[in-house]
Amino acid sequence: MTEPTDGTGRRIYTNRTLNLRALRAIGYDMDYTLIHYRVKEWESLAYRYVKERLLKRGWPVESMEFEPDRFIRGLMIDTELGNIVKANRFGYPKRATHGTRVLGFDELRSAYARQMVELSDPRFRFLNTLFSLSEACWFSQLVDCLDEGQLSGVRDYRDLSHLLRFEVDEAHVEGRLKAEIVAHPEKFVELDPDTALALLDQKRAGKKLMLITNSEWSYTQAMMQYAFDPFLTGMTWQALFDLIIVDAQKPAFFTATNPIYEVVSAEGLLRTVRRPVELGKVYQGGHVALIEEGLGCSGDDILYVGDHLFGDVQVSKRIQRWRTALVLRELEHEVEEVSSFYDAQKTLEALMGEKEAMEQQSAQLRLKLQRIQGGYGPRASQSEEELRDEMAALRDRLQHLDVQIAPLAKAVGTISNPYWGQLMRTGNDKSQLARQVERYADVYMSRVSNFLGPTPFAYLRSSRGSLPHDPLIGDP
Ligand code: 5GP
Ligand code: MG
Repeated sequence: MTEPTDGTGRRIYTNRTLNLRALRAIGYDMDYTLIHYRVKEWESLAYRYVKERLLKRGWPVESMEFEPDRFIRGLMIDTELGNIVKANRFGYPKRATHGTRVLGFDELRSAYARQMVELSDPRFRFLNTLFSLSEACWFSQLVDCLDEGQLSGVRDYRDLSHLLRFEVDEAHVEGRLKAEIVAHPEKFVELDPDTALALLDQKRAGKKLMLITNSEWSYTQAMMQYAFDPFLTGMTWQALFDLIIVDAQKPAFFTATNPIYEVVSAEGLLRTVRRPVELGKVYQGGHVALIEEGLGCSGDDILYVGDHLFGDVQVSKRIQRWRTALVLRELEHEVEEVSSFYDAQKTLEALMGEKEAMEQQSAQLRLKLQRIQGGYGPRASQSEEELRDEMAALRDRLQHLDVQIAPLAKAVGTISNPYWGQLMRTGNDKSQLARQVERYADVYMSRVSNFLGPTPFAYLRSSRGSLPHDPLIGDP
């Protein structure tokens, strides 16, 4: 077994202190949470099924291909301008593409001079999960086609985004895509033998375990069997869970009162439920109040672990006050890359420190000059000419420094993804995704088996965090 170690992205990262020992129940999402897919394979397949549908519309998409690294989770589709945008925690766009073309600095500024990127604004659609990547790729490629007047039946980018959403949705529900996954799970699933043990540890530590997935029963059963049964001895995956809810229809599961049915046979035969939900059974649909009643616990007794920032984490936290954990598999690769960049990052910070000091010096000189010219304020010890010479010298040094900074800043900005950089950062600042994670996910991690490290008895403490007015280390 691989022991999770620091520097590999295999830790549990804590935003809000969480006492695992005090939890009474833990719910798990399935897709991209308990089961991790090879993103390139899964999304290529989804892309192909969408392509079939678009070709039927007579759209010229035959030669188009899925580009797995072109987009990342946490970006926003701007359905008005046909852009895909990465914003910082304040909602200011920092990078963007129009269609497949990267927007230059001035274009970006003028496009969003009066427009913040807000999650609550229906104009923008957040890429919440790894299932969003093929859709983002399609959107960008189709915007190019629309700009060239090649798409019939859509008037603008908004129309296009609605139609694409419909086609992606249909590709997911029509059944052929899932049938292909079920027929060859080895092609699509990246197994993690440690996940079963992590859940077993929690179960034996007295937690009630739940599976709450939007996938339908037949798919859930096939995938869980493939991903868990080989790593369990003397039991099957179903015995791990006290409650199994399929076709949960999250986020409505957390916000509405959908009807519930019991799944009474392996083939998925349904029965109407008249009594409270009972532990040990499989249900379809339903809603959170029924589950809390069945478990005999509620709110912060329960931790829910999922990969969908909105459907799994935001609503369960905001509406139900459940404790929440977000799974971000991309972090693993990212943390490794950031670690390997440590020395370059340190050099960059030192150079930026120097630059800041010089800029401050330059501002002081300029002010002295202004006061001399304006004939006000304290008398300067240098003449106007001396000040100008000093400013020119400083400008040269700053230019020299910028030459050193530029390649380092560029390299740091392309860590993890060449177009968009790191998931949780925009330059030095936090990204919009980071803000959402901070707000709604009590903890986050790259995969569920990272729970093995802290054990089910751990007290996960949040770090103190930093504030702009904290004294700098080394300050007198
Ligand atoms: P969960 O993550 O809740 O276990 O399940 C996610 C399910 O939602 C998977 O079955 C996946 O195929 C499905 N899914 C992902 N994206 C879409 C989508 O855009 N439309 C629909 N209808 N289903 C989706
Ligand atoms: Mg999921």
